[in-house]
Amino acid sequence: MIEVTLLGTGSPMPDPNRAGPSTLVRAGEQIFLVDCGRGVQQRMAAVGCAANTLTALLLTHLHSDHIADLGDLIITRWISTFTPDPSPLPIIGPPGTAEVVEATLKAFGPDIGYRLAHHSDLTAPPPVQVFEYTGGVVWDHDGTLITAGPTDHRPVTPTIGFRIEYDDASVVLAGDTVPCTGLDELACGAGALVHTVIREDLVESMPLQRIRDICGYHSSVEQAAQTAARTGVGILILTHYVPALIPGQEEDWRSRAAAHFGRQIELGNDLHRVDVHPGVGTAR
Ligand SMILES: [Zn+2]
Ligand SMILES: [Zn+2]
Repeated sequence: MIEVTLLGTGSPMPDPNRAGPSTLVRAGEQIFLVDCGRGVQQRMAAVGCAANTLTALLLTHLHSDHIADLGDLIITRWISTFTPDPSPLPIIGPPGTAEVVEATLKAFGPDIGYRLAHHSDLTAPPPVQVFEYTGGVVWDHDGTLITAGPTDHRPVTPTIGFRIEYDDASVVLAGDTVPCTGLDELACGAGALVHTVIREDLVESMPLQRIRDICGYHSSVEQAAQTAARTGVGILILTHYVPALIPGQEEDWRSRAAAHFGRQIELGNDLHRVDVHPGVGTAR
């Protein structure tokens, strides 16, 4: 079984009830954080997950809402790991990730210097190891296989989605994307598909062109459901609601997806958890 927890279901717009985009995936003893939006560690704390227990950080792309708390995560993991010679945090993302991580460490340079000077048992800066991919196998350890595939979030490029497989269960994390063959191939027959969505009907009616622009590089609820149906996944998990999903309107969102996808549809608030069992979805 793979556990999927929607840590943050928000978007770039600050919301008192929704943290920024981030999803926690537990596969046996391994814990993967996919994207690290605003407030991610508060949500991690709510489910008993600390930065120093993460197996790896996976980034779908480098938009601010998906990496807002990268620095906080790296620093917190560093100062809360008490074993000597801590292993580096693997950070797996698209090309450009190394530059962003390097710049983040530079931005926190004064902090890192203060802590190195103050704590005698901290002898090196935060250990991280960045891996950049546009596709293929990105992780193969302890029974968990993770593959990446290209998505289409242009002009943001390159962007990737991830397929995590463990114990005959599988989950695909699409990130931000319009429907595309790269995601179709990655999601084919998966147990669950976590897909970011916007309500195109609502966004298109807003009077600001800058807001309407977002329709061009995201999937609507209907398009995400069509991708789920086309690829034969078992469960569609919607997140990254734009505009924010207002309590009481869940069925409106769900019915728009259900018109195109006849299987299980999950959506909700931060910390919503979905267990994906082996055999959910069709065989790949
Ligand atoms: Zn984005
Ligand atoms: Zn986004």
